[in-house]
Amino acid sequence: MQFCRFGLEGLSDYDSPRFALRHPAIDSISVSSCHNLFLPVHGKPAMPELPEVETTRIGLLKLIQGKRVAEVIVRDRRLRWPVPANLGARLRGATIETISRRGKYLLWDCENKGERGFLLSHLGMSGSLRVLRQRDECPPGKHDHIDIRLTDQSIIRYTDPRRFGAMLWIEGREPNHPLLDVLGPEPLSAEFSAQHLFRASRGRSLSIKEFVMNGHIVVGVGNIYASESLYRAGIHPGRVAGKISMARYERLVIAIRDTLNAALQAGGSSLRNYVKADGDEGYFQIDAFVYGREGKPCRACSQPIRSIVQGQRSTYYCPACQH
Ligand SMILES: [Zn+2]
Repeated sequence: MQFCRFGLEGLSDYDSPRFALRHPAIDSISVSSCHNLFLPVHGKPAMPELPEVETTRIGLLKLIQGKRVAEVIVRDRRLRWPVPANLGARLRGATIETISRRGKYLLWDCENKGERGFLLSHLGMSGSLRVLRQRDECPPGKHDHIDIRLTDQSIIRYTDPRRFGAMLWIEGREPNHPLLDVLGPEPLSAEFSAQHLFRASRGRSLSIKEFVMNGHIVVGVGNIYASESLYRAGIHPGRVAGKISMARYERLVIAIRDTLNAALQAGGSSLRNYVKADGDEGYFQIDAFVYGREGKPCRACSQPIRSIVQGQRSTYYCPACQH
């Protein structure tokens, strides 16, 4: 497999602190005065989080499930890891049977003359996937690095200005990959529970905000959702994870699920954006309680929302409602 060439050392995943250090956070960009979370600001789209990835998955499935790949055009292989040289050969003639998601990775289950394999994709910091139907086809732009052309003439186009996304190939019937092995449970699954957070946090001195953003603990709680969930749970983001009680973790689990579900619902209404030829509009708009609202009144108590930096990321919280 392609990733073997780089060894595990080069394979720090998207949730590792090393990745965060190497890749400047986008939340230094000021968020516009309205509290729409995912609106591109100054023309820069926000980083795709779990709800955007899940909505991308559902949108893609509706359009491409059961379709066959005619050819793959790779214009630039230099993503987070180089696009494998054999990707086109593996995908050509393959039927895309289904697409599943693990964390922010999409797993495209492909069948090709009895052989099976998975396209493993990640949108990184700025990636997007669109399906162009023949009638909306437009010439590729500077950041359109990969086109997967289907036999019905539609094109799945991967666009990624910052090239931190990934397109890898997993050979075989099971989607086993070192990048997936290290992932914590899905936040909307039964495996994710207060007991899990409580046990995993004992003896840990890091802040609760950094703890829930660690993909080895739970996947998909990005910077925005961490701030929003902690507000909903009434937990100060600077609290030491190892000292938080079981009762508070129970509230946090509910808050994380509610926050993600709200974003997923908002995503449903913007689904069409993922299939538009002109793209760049597919970020969800949900009402933030705290994120991007520094100095603005808390929606519950009217105290001004504060902002601090934790692990190089901006955190927003209410000093009165969260303790
Ligand atoms: Zn408040």
